[in-house]
Amino acid sequence: AAFLSASVYTFVDQELSAAELERTFIAIKPDGVQRGLISDIIARFEKKGYKLVAIKLVHPTKDFAEKHYDDLKGRPFFNGLTDFLSSGPVVAMVWEGQGVIKYGRKFIGATAPLASEPGTIRGDFAISVGRNIIHGSDGPETAKDEIALWFKPEEILTYKKETDKWLYE
Ligand code: ADP
Repeated sequence: AAFLSASVYTFVDQELSAAELERTFIAIKPDGVQRGLISDIIARFEKKGYKLVAIKLVHPTKDFAEKHYDDLKGRPFFNGLTDFLSSGPVVAMVWEGQGVIKYGRKFIGATAPLASEPGTIRGDFAISVGRNIIHGSDGPETAKDEIALWFKPEEILTYKKETDKWLYE
């Protein structure tokens, strides 16, 4: 126990820079889960050097899906979109690291998969705009709101990784 508490304190003592603490909300939508793409998507963020600070498998209710896509209320596809998001398990995650919000969007690709570059998640795996595999926050404000909607503060962990020193100067 003495050893454990000593190492916990070491982690807590290391200061994280503001850049390292940038966070985004990423969700693998029901189509991505059904198509077996969880590991591939997580691997891309992980190999880049981003840090997973929260993750859970959730089946959102229709009501929750409507809250998540609140800004799209009134659009013709809103009902279909929220039916789809609440149709099965979703992998909800928070990823952390320098530039993770913008870079996460680059990883994801354009909203319409056929307009997404090959190499992006939507470019590589999807065809229809309504079955585009993944969601990612589009800016700092959205990221903050979406993280707060999907996660309780205690579900988000702050921790140091040994590899951080090989990623950041
Ligand atoms: P993004 O997910 O790329 O941030 P938006 O926030 O504009 O895109 O839209 C949210 C989601 O709504 C999209 O990922 C897509 O699944 C769906 N969507 C957007 N536009 C359309 C459309 N014209 N028809 C059907 N679904 C759409």
